[in-house]
Amino acid sequence: MDVLKRHWIFGAIVAFLFLIPTIHGWGKDGHHTVCKIAENYLTHEALAAVKALLPDSAEGELAAVCDWADQVRFHYHWSSALHYVDTPDFRCNYDYCRDCHDTAGRKDRCVTGAIYNYTEQLMSEHDDSGLYATSHNLTEALMFLSHYIGDVHQPLHVGFLGDLGGNSITIRWYRRKTNLHHVWDNMIIESALKTFYSKDLSAMTQAIQKNITAAMVDEVSRENCKSTVCPDLYASESISLACKYAYRNATPGSTLEDDYFYSRWPIVKSRLAQGGVRLATLLNRIFSKNKSIAVE
Ligand SMILES: [Zn+2]
Repeated sequence: MDVLKRHWIFGAIVAFLFLIPTIHGWGKDGHHTVCKIAENYLTHEALAAVKALLPDSAEGELAAVCDWADQVRFHYHWSSALHYVDTPDFRCNYDYCRDCHDTAGRKDRCVTGAIYNYTEQLMSEHDDSGLYATSHNLTEALMFLSHYIGDVHQPLHVGFLGDLGGNSITIRWYRRKTNLHHVWDNMIIESALKTFYSKDLSAMTQAIQKNITAAMVDEVSRENCKSTVCPDLYASESISLACKYAYRNATPGSTLEDDYFYSRWPIVKSRLAQGGVRLATLLNRIFSKNKSIAVE
């Protein structure tokens, strides 16, 4: 098959996949928010490197491709285990060696393992001449990494194994029947958009952005993170928040309404903000260590 034809077919498949609704991860809005926030904290050098890797369809905007990983999970079947990590029921803690594996027990196949892997790919795949090595697709590595940093900040992406991160806990969100995982991926954000921001996603993103202080950004850059990225820290925070807020008062069959919404929205907001700032910090680290790829 010639290259053009192959590209056309791949393009058609991707276009089709974009029509399939999102199932897992922060919903489209959550991922968009995380990446939109990240864009604001990228250095000139990192922004140029990111733009050079983005597909043309993104039109230079990282946020445009931040839910790409959810769209291709049916096509890239191997990638679906990489959106989350399950932890033992009711322990409320996370341990990489114990928890990071897929359902078949294959090690490193979970969201934190994926973050290490794609960070490594982006860090190591540039040579001094500035040419991209060909063994990995760095455009996909960037899109996966940006997505998974968002996912690991969603508390129920580090939920209990027994209820599949809240997926098997059926509840009502006001009048709608759904599951607890979906509430944290989508419904809290959807209700916040309606209640506070007249359904305007950019107004919501800007409001979250305004609350991010210089002190918070500084704190993230000084986090006790000895390597380039510390997804284990983010996963530990997530399961702790899942126990404290997501699972609390959300037993199977319960109806979640104003009390739950108003007390959990601040948690969702702060996780979106943290995810965004940390993604930017990570991309700045990756791309400033690889100066050769910065494009002026
Ligand atoms: Zn996801």
